[in-house]
Amino acid sequence: MYEFAVSPAVTQIRRRGVEISEVADGSVGAELELEAGDRIMRVNGRVVKDYLDFRFQTAGETDLVIDVRKHNGEDWELNIERDETEDFGLSFEQIVPRQCANECIFCFCKGNPETARPSLFVRDEDVRLSFLYGNYTTLTSITPEEMTRVIEQRLSPQYVSVHATDLEVRAYLLGIDKQRADISTRIQQLLDAGIEIHAQVVLCPNINDGEILRRTISDLAELHPRVRSVAIVPLGLTRYLNDERLTPVTPEFCRRTIREISVIQRNLRQQLGTTFAFLGDEIYLRAGRPVPGSKHYGDYPQIEDGIGMVRSFANQFEAMLRRIQSASQSGGLSERTFFGTIMTGTLFAPVLRKMIERLNRRFDTHLHVVAVDNNYFGGDVSVAGLLTGGDFLAARKKVVGDFAIIPHVALKSDEPIMLDGLRFEELQKEFDIPIHVLDFAGFAEMLTHTQQRTSPAVRTRPIPAYA
Ligand code: SF4
Repeated sequence: MYEFAVSPAVTQIRRRGVEISEVADGSVGAELELEAGDRIMRVNGRVVKDYLDFRFQTAGETDLVIDVRKHNGEDWELNIERDETEDFGLSFEQIVPRQCANECIFCFCKGNPETARPSLFVRDEDVRLSFLYGNYTTLTSITPEEMTRVIEQRLSPQYVSVHATDLEVRAYLLGIDKQRADISTRIQQLLDAGIEIHAQVVLCPNINDGEILRRTISDLAELHPRVRSVAIVPLGLTRYLNDERLTPVTPEFCRRTIREISVIQRNLRQQLGTTFAFLGDEIYLRAGRPVPGSKHYGDYPQIEDGIGMVRSFANQFEAMLRRIQSASQSGGLSERTFFGTIMTGTLFAPVLRKMIERLNRRFDTHLHVVAVDNNYFGGDVSVAGLLTGGDFLAARKKVVGDFAIIPHVALKSDEPIMLDGLRFEELQKEFDIPIHVLDFAGFAEMLTHTQQRTSPAVRTRPIPAYA
């Protein structure tokens, strides 16, 4: 699941309206004398609960009546005439996520150490965040009002954790009764209203694999194209998530899954013109198999769920090699020597190492890849995005060269802090060389830019980062 800044919001008592957090200079909002801390209560008489409401209710409207509760307690009514395309220049407080009422046997919250920061224990189940960030929901506790809102405001696509279309198995996985687990009517209602759905299956050996998985894929494929894709991602166990009902995902299980699902994928491509049911990159890497080519992923509909990230990275790496080649032919790269270490998770390290070795052979670089063990979560957690400050510190002795690179995905998206609460600047202090926090674009830029960076850099670009 995507992480976002939720920690302050979870304990807040819900206040009415939506609070303005920033007003851009020279904007319509500034002209109206709106300020940070003011709350928008209504637009044209309709209650505003969050910034999505504000966006929806102001979209396309040229005559507006906006009720505002000023931060000093005054109530203002603003009558506005504006050009349809004119932006208000307002930023708003984050959405307070709704919490889930499931008890999934594989819930990631149960896999956290007690000391993990509070936001890691937030069990969000919110169709707004699904639309905005691709967070998965199970639709088990969606209210009729929320259903209406998704449809009315066109909050499409929605990302739905289906896990299994077999009701008994779904209920078992979610830890709820069959009646609550049954979302078939809601899914149909959303699809009938033109809302698109991307589905997810967390694959748990001996529970929703084999025939159950085949049926799940086939039931969802019946709903294509409105159900656009299915992401099949493996169960992840940490040392804290050791429920005896769960069986660890092994390399042999991954190989069997690839064998079984590749036949189905071939058929689906013929019938639907898309692979439709995608296996997570982790399944290929753990199986020791190469990830499929670009065609397999089409427009990469589930890249944020770890589907096709490695392929995308490999393609970008090839393009980068070509760019460096032409730069070196024009004399650019030969002026610089790169001697440093790239730190990443144990899952991706072997793949990245092969790519980096090619880079080193062809150009004047001496880059090393260090596979960083995840001691914080333990278990079979091996992706870069779950590495913590302590894990990087523990691998420090393996670092060589003039700088180290750590993956951008290991930091919180809106703050330079890692999952164990260590801040980037604290980590930097423990290293005697600069640390760069980079996604792929940042790494490519570092190699192809005319000047090598010598100071720590934090980039906040989204994916693809190295997985
Ligand atoms: S839906 Fe399941 S996995 Fe997600 S937060 Fe709720 S209990 Fe955890």
